[in-house]
Amino acid sequence: MLGQQILKLLQQEIPQIEYERYIKQLRYDEEASRSDIAVFHASNPLVARWVKTRYGDKLSHLFELKTGIKPQVIVDVKRPGKKEGGTKRGEFSEPVGGKPAAKSTILNPSYTFESFVVGSSNQFAYTAAMRVAEKPGEQYNPLFIYGGAGLGKTHLLHAIGNYNLARGRQVIFTSLEQFMNQFIHHVRNHTMDRFRDKFRSCDILLLDDIQFLSRKKETQEELFHTFNELHGAGKQIVMTSDQHPKKIAGLEERLRSRFEWGLTVDIQPPELETKIAIIKKKCELNGIQLDNDIVNYIAANMGNNIREIEGIIIQLNAFANMMNQSITLDFAKNVVKNQLKERSENITIDDIVKVVSKELNVKPSEIKSKSRSRKIVEARRIVIYLARTLTPNSMPSLAQYFGMKDHTAVSHAMKKINEMLDKDETFKTKIEELSHKITSVAVE
Ligand code: ADP
Ligand code: MG
Repeated sequence: MLGQQILKLLQQEIPQIEYERYIKQLRYDEEASRSDIAVFHASNPLVARWVKTRYGDKLSHLFELKTGIKPQVIVDVKRPGKKEGGTKRGEFSEPVGGKPAAKSTILNPSYTFESFVVGSSNQFAYTAAMRVAEKPGEQYNPLFIYGGAGLGKTHLLHAIGNYNLARGRQVIFTSLEQFMNQFIHHVRNHTMDRFRDKFRSCDILLLDDIQFLSRKKETQEELFHTFNELHGAGKQIVMTSDQHPKKIAGLEERLRSRFEWGLTVDIQPPELETKIAIIKKKCELNGIQLDNDIVNYIAANMGNNIREIEGIIIQLNAFANMMNQSITLDFAKNVVKNQLKERSENITIDDIVKVVSKELNVKPSEIKSKSRSRKIVEARRIVIYLARTLTPNSMPSLAQYFGMKDHTAVSHAMKKINEMLDKDETFKTKIEELSHKITSVAVE
């Protein structure tokens, strides 16, 4: 069963002791769950709260990998009554003779154009998505939407899907990871005909998170053929990615150029007003009441990832319900601060090296090397600066990480970066972007 599989995946990623203590006892509620909501029951409120705060995002991400939809994860206490004594083993084992539901093609009905808040940061992507939804295969083919995490790419993709599903068109939504997994599955079982039939018989193919194509040679090859057939037949293809096609490493040239045949649009981080409007919309849709000062506080302090912002709103609401209290500004401040703190505790120097090397186009091994080439020295300094500001590492421990003699080289790097920050606005923006990328990666 889906919920059970997800808990197994989680088990592989967390300390065994935490698994035994908190996760093992969770029960997935299939009846109460939907594609966009996953409900688990815990034995008591403390465990429920702990699991939600500590593993909520992780669980939701694991669901996304499996089904293509990132659900809201709800952990509550199993109500007595109905299904009393129902925690029998059998209830949670594989359904008899049941095939896993074809969730990959299920669209989240709440991700529509109507529920999408438009601001200048996403106006262009929204309009392009709308055009494509209205006239699939006619104008912009493919449509390629790219932008940072939690900015609404998947939402727009589902909106295109929902719009066309309602008009009787054949829609396939799949994440690249699912596309790849299915491809591997069918190759192994010698059923590639079925795979090809499925993907080539749709009117609209929605491919989410295409950046995972990076260096997947066989999947690229297969997608190349799928693309050509659909495109040749005038069928619409829409893709999303966290990066511009040019920046996806290890992507074959012939695919890259095809990705740019149609229209490539980006989504920028939302401005404050858009964030406020989105929060209000989410509250309205979820029947949650928040005072304006709380909405403003969250918008101003929570960064740009709307998924995280949504997480905070839901968390606030859940706590308030559990404690039977209304939500005050102080309470909201506490929850936001805890979340931010937890996030920064999760960042490692390796996370920073990973993001910086990717963004500045150097290898992680070069950053850690002794190379004196200008580009690498600068990347290394930036890593040091960010590690000092985003992690609790001291200068000596950073020196040790980079194999430096002592911390003077670290403080020299800090000084250089601080000088550049003072005099170079563009550099400053770049550093802010990097630091934002790192914090959002750590949360994923
Ligand atoms: P991405 O795919 O870019 O990482 P998602 O599309 O999954 O981001 O969006 C994350 C969450 O934020 C979703 O719940 C989505 O509904 C919401 N969201 C993002 N942008 C908007 C927007 N402009 N209006 C309404 N909701 C939004
Ligand atoms: Mg997405």
